[in-house]
Amino acid sequence: MEESCIFCKIALRELPSHVVYEDDLTMAFLDIHPTSKGHTLIIPKSHANDFISSPTDTLLAVTRTMQSIAPAVIKAVEAEGFNVHFNNGSVAGQVIFHLHGHIIPRFPRDGRELWKGGSYRDGEAAEIAEKIKNMIN
Ligand code: 5GP
Ligand code: ZN
Repeated sequence: MEESCIFCKIALRELPSHVVYEDDLTMAFLDIHPTSKGHTLIIPKSHANDFISSPTDTLLAVTRTMQSIAPAVIKAVEAEGFNVHFNNGSVAGQVIFHLHGHIIPRFPRDGRELWKGGSYRDGEAAEIAEKIKNMIN
């Protein structure tokens, strides 16, 4: 529990939210400012700042819950698909620094286009792939 963490408080039910699921390790509740109807957040009950710093078991528990509740979320709002997001870092839109996955229901012609695909200049893709491989190794 982090003293000033809003999602820790939601996990402990010290703050209200529309909880749709919980188990020993995780909780799922509606996003207070939904990107689309049924937008659901899935958190671990124990505090972790984000995707990378989270213990692997914690992240696995979160993704397990996401997989198991997604069909119900989609069905409940009659969506045809969904996006899964984990925002990491302020630059990526992370506002709450308690690990959370987003399930965002999608509807036909809902105007939420996917990102536009760009391109690499000659040799750039190989260069970047090489850098990433070296960083992994
Ligand atoms: P982030 O941008 O950090 O990935 O996502 C944080 C999400 O939490 C936002 O979509 C925001 O609407 C939601 N949120 C922020 N405060 C609260 C709250 O007090 N209750 C609920 N249910 N959602 C919240
Ligand atoms: Zn927290």
